[in-house]
Amino acid sequence: MTDASRTPDAGTVRADAVADPATPYALRRLTSVALDALADGAAARGGPLPAGGPEQVAARTRALCAPVLPEEGLGAEDAVYGVARAAAEGAADPSDPHCVAHLHCPPLAVAAAADLVASALNPSMDSWDQAPAAAVIEEEVTAALAQLVYAGRPDPDAVVTSGGTESNLVALLLARERARATGGRPLQVLVGANAHHSVRRAAWMLGLPTPVVVDCPGGRMSPAALDRALAEAAGGPALVVATAGTTDEGLIDPLPELAAVAREHGAELHVDAAYGGPLLFSERLAPRLAGIEHAVSVTYDLHKLGWQPVAAGVLAVADAALLEPLALTADYLNADDDTEAGLPDLLGRSIRTSRRPDVLKIAATLRALGRRGMARTVEHCVDTAAEFARAVDEHPALRRRPGDVGISTVLFRPAAADALDDEAGDALVAAVRRELLAEGRAVLGRALVADGDGRQRLWLKVTLLHPRSTAADLDALLKLVAERAEGPSPA
Ligand SMILES: *Cc1c(COP(=O)(O)O)cnc(C)c1O
Repeated sequence: MTDASRTPDAGTVRADAVADPATPYALRRLTSVALDALADGAAARGGPLPAGGPEQVAARTRALCAPVLPEEGLGAEDAVYGVARAAAEGAADPSDPHCVAHLHCPPLAVAAAADLVASALNPSMDSWDQAPAAAVIEEEVTAALAQLVYAGRPDPDAVVTSGGTESNLVALLLARERARATGGRPLQVLVGANAHHSVRRAAWMLGLPTPVVVDCPGGRMSPAALDRALAEAAGGPALVVATAGTTDEGLIDPLPELAAVAREHGAELHVDAAYGGPLLFSERLAPRLAGIEHAVSVTYDLHKLGWQPVAAGVLAVADAALLEPLALTADYLNADDDTEAGLPDLLGRSIRTSRRPDVLKIAATLRALGRRGMARTVEHCVDTAAEFARAVDEHPALRRRPGDVGISTVLFRPAAADALDDEAGDALVAAVRRELLAEGRAVLGRALVADGDGRQRLWLKVTLLHPRSTAADLDALLKLVAERAEGPSPA
């Protein structure tokens, strides 16, 4: 299908056709238009990213879908085609095995298809009379997601969030309320220097004292440093936030040791496992998260190592009663008499009111793959990263950052960068990344991390989340990087 076949034809479009609700009948035709646009856009792009850099992308995108508010509408088909085509042609496409910069996963087809259902039915998860079945599905799924973390506990629970940022915010909110109930000093949060920025921001939003930052030599929180920090915080209510899968390096804090130190000081532990949480699906990899069960709450995302379209976040808590501070009554959503008459009360399961049924795509994915399928897919990503690391180690023109491979993240840089002084070396690393972006050939991340000598250096970052990437994909990627580091690309 070509652009030309989408020319508006006012003669055949009913004036009010665009205002049709999303019935299966109305959607079937538009869905096929959207899928055509996805295919045409991907073909026009021809790689993981549109070539040409920001200005060319902006010009092309505007040509395909501006003006966004025409005086007279184009009709549904042309509008869907134009917007979808523009979005696809100009996408950073995580389904391309060379799009590996961020914790930005290729969404599974099964999840995307189920997400269409969420859009079409539009259940809103804030009251039973908007989401009778979706509420049940959420109850079943959150019970399973809570079990994944807290298998041994009598009554764990989990809520669905928009992602790690919201999960961390809610975790800190619940901890603040527990501290407030003791009537003493305000909650002191302690975070690793390796923690995600959302933890510090949550403390700021919640009006908590500035978090104490704990040393992370080698990228992991030091139990001895935590011990000293807690001794200095002296006695007030404290929440230690550890990380299982750091954003820059995919490293996992020593959870059993940190849990023990926190316990000695009477502090609580929250684990931000936004990245690493899904390791729990795998019997082989779950031991890497040993100790996580000591946490009072755990953040994990399924739109990273869980292949969901954004958003799919989880906050698991060790006991359902820990969610009580979220309880809230609004007469129009969950009046007491309705609740007494047996209508389930959903409002207390989020800080949001209207809420998308993100659980539908999660439910479809978990049923499609099963626990073992989730495990195998996580293992594929982890194993691919180990292979990639070995390939870097064997490559004469590249150097891997020494140390363990973090979950599915590998840091490396051209050996040529090491031969230069620090500043010029970092500039070479940055230039290689930008050149590949501008060519639309590869989307690599960057990470500025301290080396053993205490100096910060810039690294190329690869975050492997592709469920089907192969050794050949990775070889091609290494070849690209090595070529770019050697000098300007041949004309
Ligand atoms: C991605 C990430 C977050 C933020 O999660 P969002 O889903 O982007 O809101 C928080 N913590 C860690 C460790 C992360 O990797």
